[in-house]
Amino acid sequence: MDFRYTTEQEMYRQAIREWLTKNLEPRARAIDEAEAGIPTDITEGMAELGMFGVTIPEEYGGMPLPDEERLIYAMITVHEIARADLSMSTPVYTLLTIGWSYIVNRYGTEELKQELLPAVAAGKAFAGINTTEPGGGSDLAAITTIAPWSEEKQAYIMNGEKAYVSGPKECEKWGPPSGHCTLVKTDPEQSYKGFTFIWVPAHLPGISYTTYKDMGRMGLSTGGWIYKDVELPKKYVLGEEGKGFYVNMDGFNAARVLVAAACLGGAEKGLEISAEYTAQRKTFGKPLGKWEGISFEMVDDWMQLDMLKLNLLRGAWMIGQEHTNPGQFGRKEINKVISTCKCLAPTLCHDIARHGMIYHGAFGYTKDTPLEMLLRGVMSYEVGAEGGLMIMRGIIARDEWGETHNPFKD
Ligand SMILES: Cc1cc2nc3c(=O)[nH]c(=O)nc-3n(C[C@H](O)[C@H](O)[C@H](O)COP(=O)(O)OP(=O)(O)OC[C@H]3O[C@@H](n4cnc5c(N)ncnc54)[C@H](O)[C@@H]3O)c2cc1C
Repeated sequence: MDFRYTTEQEMYRQAIREWLTKNLEPRARAIDEAEAGIPTDITEGMAELGMFGVTIPEEYGGMPLPDEERLIYAMITVHEIARADLSMSTPVYTLLTIGWSYIVNRYGTEELKQELLPAVAAGKAFAGINTTEPGGGSDLAAITTIAPWSEEKQAYIMNGEKAYVSGPKECEKWGPPSGHCTLVKTDPEQSYKGFTFIWVPAHLPGISYTTYKDMGRMGLSTGGWIYKDVELPKKYVLGEEGKGFYVNMDGFNAARVLVAAACLGGAEKGLEISAEYTAQRKTFGKPLGKWEGISFEMVDDWMQLDMLKLNLLRGAWMIGQEHTNPGQFGRKEINKVISTCKCLAPTLCHDIARHGMIYHGAFGYTKDTPLEMLLRGVMSYEVGAEGGLMIMRGIIARDEWGETHNPFKD
C-alpha cells in the first residue's frame, strides 16, 4: 500500500502545474468574462503536454501510460486545471472530453475509436455526455428520446430532445468528429433493456441546438439539442444494444471521479488563497489567521478536503483495477466510493469559496478575487451536473443497504 503518486505521476503533475500556472491561471477571469469559449492556444498547449491524451491509448494518438493508471492521470490533470481556472470552464471542458473518451475507448467500435480518439488527443474535438431531457435528468429511466433500428436505412433513427447539455458551441467550434455519448431508447416498448448508449456526432443532418445563459463557468456553453430523423450507423453503438443503461452508469462513475477532482482542485486553491490573505490582513492588531473563529473553520475545511482527496484516489484506483482485471470490487463497491466523492466534493468546494469570500470581507464580494467565480462555477455540480447530490445519496443507500433502502424502486 502506498498513498503517494508514483515518480512518473508526480513528474507529470509538476510539469502541467508549471504550464497551467503560467499560461492558464492569468487568463481565467478573461475566459469567464469573454464567454467566448476556451482560447485555442490554451487547448493547443494542453494537448502538447498530453493532457487530452491521458485516457487514450498510444495507438490512437494518446499517452503511453499503463491502462490501470489512466484515470489517475486524468484525475491529476483535472485537479491541476481546476487550480488554475477557478471559473471551472477549462476543467469541466477537459473532464468531459477525457472522461467520455475513456468510455469510448472502453466500449466503442474500432471504427469509432479511429474516427474520434486521435482528434480528441490532439485537442481538436469535444466529447461530452448527453442524457438529460427537458422532462428531467435524475430519472434516466423516464427518458423519451428514441432511436429504433431501420432495416431500410441500415441505421438507428433518432428523434427527441436533450436539455442542459454541456458543449454545443464547442462541438460547433471544432466541427467533426465532436459529439456526445448519448442515452436513447432503441426499443421504446422495454424498460431498462430498451436503452442503448450511442455516440452522436453533433454535425449529422437533423440536429440543431439552442443555448442557455448560465450563472457560472461562462467559458463553456450549455444548451439543448433537437433531433429529427437523425441516422446513426451501428458503428456508433457503445457496448451492446439494449445494455446502454449500464454502460452509461459505468461512464458516470469515471466522469464523477473527474468532477470530484475538479471540485477538490478548486477547493484546494481557494483554501490557499484564504490562507495567504488571512496571514497578512490584520484586525485588532493580529492577522485574521490568528483568530480561531477563522482558522478553526479553515481547519475543518482542510480536514474534509484531505480526507476526500484520499477517497478520490481510492475511487480512481479501484476503477483502473477493475478495468484491467474485472471482478475485483464489483459495481456496488465502486458506486459507493465514487458517489461519496461526487456528493461531498462540490459542497465542500462551495463552502470553501464562500468562507474565503467572507474572510476577504468587502474585497471578497468584488471580482478582484477569483472566489466568487469559483462559487458560481462549482454550483453547477450542486444543482445536478453529472448527477444530483440527492441521487448520489440514493445510490449509496441502495448499494449499502439494498432494496429496503432503494429510493429508485417502489
Ligand atoms: C451547468 C450544467 C451542465 C450540465 N451538463 C450536462 C451534460 O453535459 N449532459 C447532461 O446530460 N446533463 C447535463 N446537465 C444536467 C444535469 O445532469 C441535471 O441537471 C441533473 O441530472 C438533474 O436533473 P434535472 O436538472 O432535470 O433535475 P430533476 O431531475 O428535475 O431534479 C431536481 C432536483 O431534485 C433532486 N432530486 C431528484 N430526485 C430526487 C429524489 N428522489 N429525492 C430527493 N431529491 C431528488 C435533484 O438532485 C435535483 O436537485 C447539466 C446541468 C448543469 C447545471
